[in-house]
Amino acid sequence: MNSIKLAKKTEQNFKSIFKIKDYSIGGDEFIFMAGPCSIESREQIFAIAEQVSKAGAQILRGGAFKPRTSPYSFQGLGEEGLKYMRDAANKFNLACVSEVMSEHEIKMAEEYVDILQIGSRNMQNYSLLKAAGKSSKPILLKRGLAATYEEFLLAAEYILMHGNSQVILCERGIRTFETYTRNTLDIAAVPILRELTHLPIIVDPSHGVGLRNFIAPMSRAAAAVNADGLIIEVHTDPDLSISDAQQAIDPQTFKTIVNNVNKILDAVKITEYGE
Ligand code: PEP
Ligand code: MN
Repeated sequence: MNSIKLAKKTEQNFKSIFKIKDYSIGGDEFIFMAGPCSIESREQIFAIAEQVSKAGAQILRGGAFKPRTSPYSFQGLGEEGLKYMRDAANKFNLACVSEVMSEHEIKMAEEYVDILQIGSRNMQNYSLLKAAGKSSKPILLKRGLAATYEEFLLAAEYILMHGNSQVILCERGIRTFETYTRNTLDIAAVPILRELTHLPIIVDPSHGVGLRNFIAPMSRAAAAVNADGLIIEVHTDPDLSISDAQQAIDPQTFKTIVNNVNKILDAVKITEYGE
């Protein structure tokens, strides 16, 4: 992969660590990002923020600008939603992340969130990547639905090249011939990207599988391959989620995931570094 320059892992730069509010990603700390697919109301995001923070999350997720396949589906609360999320994050001492789809949305979201997300559908939106490169906020870059590792890293390269060194990669499943699941979570992406790049790598089992029963085992798998964190869709009333209800889990399930992931991380440390 000679085309990868700034994202490339080297002896001098083998693991980037970014500070996000009181937390850091890419270092020893495993990061849990959790929250609803969409911010639906002030009450909803506050209730979820409280629960995920109690369960051990450090970062609150929630979409305010939603990239919906159908133009008739709920498109998000926009700036109003971002305000609710910022207030909820502050109240429960969380950082927060939300998706942006245009340069205009970057400017708006920068006022409220700690991390800007670029979604799968926009991984190759080069104008957006360049604009993200000029932002001072860390960028959570999701793998495109059919992107190779090289294309994924080249998308990160656009952001890095335009001046933003803080890119977090997110494996969120790819399109395959399998139709049972929403996507096929490519867990091998974690150790493979780890060999190619110094950037932090997190896993999104929610979009990766799309079915709530499999979020827990895939989260454990992400920990076992030494990902830097997880991003999981959690809702206080999963079936009533306005978007992505089938993959939403309740706070209790999220708490169990956090506990089991922590046990696996301890085991992984022993395997990698000896006792
Ligand atoms: C999301 O995080 O809600 C989302 C739309 O993700 P993706 O871009 O991975 O589909
Ligand atoms: Mn979603």
